Amino acid sequence: MEGAAAPRGRSSEREGTASDGRAADGPQEQTGAEQPSRGRAAPDRLCAEAVELAREAAEQAAHPHPLGAYLGLVTEADRLVTHLFESREPGYPGWRWGVTVTRAARARYVTVDEVALTPGPDALLAPDWVPWSKRLRPGDMGPGDLLPTEGDDPRLEAGFVSDAPETEPAEVASELGLGRPRVLAWVGLQDAADRWEEHYGPRTPMAQAAPASCVSCGFLLPMAGALRQAFGVCANEFSPADGHVVSLAYGCGGHSEAAVMPEPQVPAPPVIDHLGADPL
Ligand code: SF4
Repeated sequence: MEGAAAPRGRSSEREGTASDGRAADGPQEQTGAEQPSRGRAAPDRLCAEAVELAREAAEQAAHPHPLGAYLGLVTEADRLVTHLFESREPGYPGWRWGVTVTRAARARYVTVDEVALTPGPDALLAPDWVPWSKRLRPGDMGPGDLLPTEGDDPRLEAGFVSDAPETEPAEVASELGLGRPRVLAWVGLQDAADRWEEHYGPRTPMAQAAPASCVSCGFLLPMAGALRQAFGVCANEFSPADGHVVSLAYGCGGHSEAAVMPEPQVPAPPVIDHLGADPL
């Protein structure tokens, strides 16, 4: 469907006069005619009377589909009026043919300036266009896909690229963001923390029913970086959070100390009497 910003339209050099007695079709007699708008109290009389001229132009533009009823006029400016006709174009419910007519100052002749298919108030329109970057959802990316980040992505901030990284201990350099042009900014950290907390945080049903929290669990792998005091990675293959970042306040029934298995009882060795004999 064509959008409102690019209406189907055709300009015309058609010329006519409104002084031929056809004002009976004028907008004043149309039921439900549009009110003059855009601050113009009254349309130019000759332009307003040029309904048949506008209809003829609209019929040519709408061909081979028939033209619908006359809907009224809109005053665009001095000696500039748009006549509106109902469209019967398939697939365009609620759209209207708008024929803009005008005349030069002190001229009797009205000419057609433009013909365009435009949406009415109840027109069926395509939804607003949304850039792909705003439509992306987690999980949309597949193998081989590239996801570019904007230069001013608020989740990232400038890192520090050292001229002599080998002089720094590797783990310290990594913590400081050495060697990376950009590192997570506060916004990015906060977003990540919110997401992780939503899925593996203390308010989840699993955590609410857990015997203890991750902070005391032997399966918790500590993280490096700014979020290490709030998050870690679960490494219990039987936990639903295995391989995921979990809040230290999260927890599950697989907590390493929650239910330690008791040592199995080892039966005592049998006593064999070598001296006596059981009577048969
Ligand atoms: S096993 Fe459960 S309690 Fe332990 S780290 Fe994983 S999620 Fe936390």
